[in-house]
Amino acid sequence: MVDNLMLQQLHGAAPAEQKVVRARCSQDACRHEWIAAHLPMPLEKAAMLMQRAACPKCADDRPVVAHG
Ligand SMILES: [Zn+2]
Repeated sequence: MVDNLMLQQLHGAAPAEQKVVRARCSQDACRHEWIAAHLPMPLEKAAMLMQRAACPKCADDRPVVAHG
């Protein structure tokens, strides 16, 4: 699911347009939202960022990817 979202965003991005991939904390008590990656970015690097993403507020390491 993350890969499909990445591909959609990479293909849909206009050359000069800056897009972001947002991550949202999966903890109900936190729900912090932050920018996990800026697009366009090579897919494997964006995937690496998403795998390493952890909530900067509560350190939860299972963030939910949201549209930017
Ligand atoms: Zn959190």
